[in-house]
Amino acid sequence: ELEENRLQNYQNLLQLDGQHLVLNREPIECRICLSDVKPEEGVVLRDCLHSFCRDCLKQLIRCCTDPQVPCPYRDESYACNSKLQEREIRALVSLDDYDKFLDRSMSVAETSSENSYHCKTADCKGWCIYEDTVNEFRCPICFKLNCLLCKAIHEGMNCKQYQDDLRSRALNDSAARRTTEMLKVSP
Ligand SMILES: [Zn+2]
Ligand SMILES: [Zn+2]
Ligand SMILES: [Zn+2]
Ligand SMILES: [Zn+2]
Repeated sequence: ELEENRLQNYQNLLQLDGQHLVLNREPIECRICLSDVKPEEGVVLRDCLHSFCRDCLKQLIRCCTDPQVPCPYRDESYACNSKLQEREIRALVSLDDYDKFLDRSMSVAETSSENSYHCKTADCKGWCIYEDTVNEFRCPICFKLNCLLCKAIHEGMNCKQYQDDLRSRALNDSAARRTTEMLKVSP
C-alpha cells in the first residue's frame, strides 16, 4: 500500500508539471475586459502571477506579431514587462492559431534582422541569423546543410564542384534552348 501511495504522489507530481496553465484559485476580475472570472476559469501567468480571463489572453496571442507575447498588465504607474511562456501560449490557443502565431513571429524576426538566411529547401520555413565567420547552416526544420557561401544546398559536393556543376548546367540549358529553337524554325 505504501508503494501505491508513492506511485500516486509521483503521478500527481507529473500531472502538476504537465499542467501548462496555472488556473486561478480565487475569483478574479480580468483587467482587460473587466469581467468577473470564476475560480479555475482564468489563467495565472507563471512568470509574473498576473491573471486574466482566457479569452483576453487568446485574443492577445492572435494579435501579437512579436515572437514574445508581453503580459498585458498595466496600471497608472506600472506596466508589467514579463512575457508569456511558450507552453502557456501553446496551451491557450488552438493548434491552428499557434501555427499562425509561429509563422508571424518567425517572419517578423527574420525580416527585422540583416544577416538572415532562409533555408533553400522549397517551402521550408527554416532560417538563421549568421555570422561572417560561419559558412554552413544546418536547417533545424528540414535538417539539410545549407552552404552560406553559395547560398545553396549542395550536400555531397564541395563549393567548387557545385559552382562547376552550376556553370555546366547553365551551358547545357542554353545549348538545349538553342536546339529547340533550331528545331522550331526547321521545316
Ligand atoms: Zn478578459
Ligand atoms: Zn504580468
Ligand atoms: Zn530547411
Ligand atoms: Zn558552397
